Amino acid sequence: MITLIIDISGNHLPAVSMELAALALRLNKTNKSGITALVYGKEAALGARQFAEASGIKTLGLVCTPEEHSAMAVATALKDVLSAEAARYLLLPHTPWAMEVAPALAVVLGLPTISCVTEYDTETATFFRSAGGGTSRLHTKAPQGGVVTLQPGAISPAPEADAPGTVTVRPLPVPPGAVRIQSTSAREKGSAALAGARVVVSVGRGIKAREHLPLFHRFADALPGAAKACSRPLVDMGWMPYPCQVGITGTSVSADLYIALGISGSTQHLAGIPQSTTVVSVNQDPDAAIHAVSDLIIEADLLPFMEATLVLMAEK
Ligand SMILES: Cc1cc2nc3c(=O)[nH]c(=O)nc-3n(C[C@H](O)[C@H](O)[C@H](O)COP(=O)(O)OP(=O)(O)OC[C@H]3O[C@@H](n4cnc5c(N)ncnc54)[C@H](O)[C@@H]3O)c2cc1C
Repeated sequence: MITLIIDISGNHLPAVSMELAALALRLNKTNKSGITALVYGKEAALGARQFAEASGIKTLGLVCTPEEHSAMAVATALKDVLSAEAARYLLLPHTPWAMEVAPALAVVLGLPTISCVTEYDTETATFFRSAGGGTSRLHTKAPQGGVVTLQPGAISPAPEADAPGTVTVRPLPVPPGAVRIQSTSAREKGSAALAGARVVVSVGRGIKAREHLPLFHRFADALPGAAKACSRPLVDMGWMPYPCQVGITGTSVSADLYIALGISGSTQHLAGIPQSTTVVSVNQDPDAAIHAVSDLIIEADLLPFMEATLVLMAEK
């Protein structure tokens, strides 16, 4: 059995849920073992209904409070359910929480892990994975099954199903583990909005100084509905919040338009934009790597470019 494992922490399913469904459908073409889903968390009843309706997949909602428990305690609680389902492939999103639960599940079920998957080829039954901070692509086969984490934004979501899947809901008792989480405080929001944005304006080290950032914000604000993003150095320097980081260790975006301002185009950054339709790069270096994936290259000095564009937009 192929089993999707989705944790729901708010009132909405994570955007990656339907991408997991797409991966499961592809995997089922080669394995033909069938697909089920587990949605767990405080709002599991709601999440399970939403997911079954959108995906058409038979879904079990497990009501629990995973945020109070260690990943190992959650994995131990899920073990019996997964064993009863004869789950061979477990598919989770490559998100910080799932990245903790996935290895714990692999330990309790005795399965290998296949992490950070970006693609699955049905012809050769091969998982493609990003490794080494995006510097390598691993071709992996796991015929006996495994715990698979999928990079958000790497593959297109499954289409909406014609008919809903069946839903069952029950509580999931989590045994007290050696570690008990006392409280959780949310970081700045942004990733979810960024991951689903149609237009993304992203700034890199080419901005040169923190005092130039207000110009970037004015530029991005002038584009209706645009989400703001950045490369990692800006986060490392504390100039932009982490949820804005695009790339292998940040968020993956699948925008219709991705505008890269003063970004060189490292493999780690490009790993975050594989699904973006049109890429526009503004860079003064004619040999910048970002140009290789750009549909429109603007060879210009960033600051005068943004100033001049704002003036033109104001005139329109
Ligand atoms: C394990 C690991 C994980 C990583 N994860 C990520 C990640 O998730 N996301 C990420 O982004 N990076 C990540 N990195 C960092 C990555 O390797 C690069 O260092 C980073 O992407 C470079 O950011 P940048 O393009 O903004 O800066 P730079 O590479 O310094 O590029 C700046 C660009 O601005 C241009 N420029 C300079 N001045 C101007 C100007 N006046 N006008 C116009 N253009 C100008 C330059 O020509 C250059 O192309 C990771 C690295 C490692 C090792």
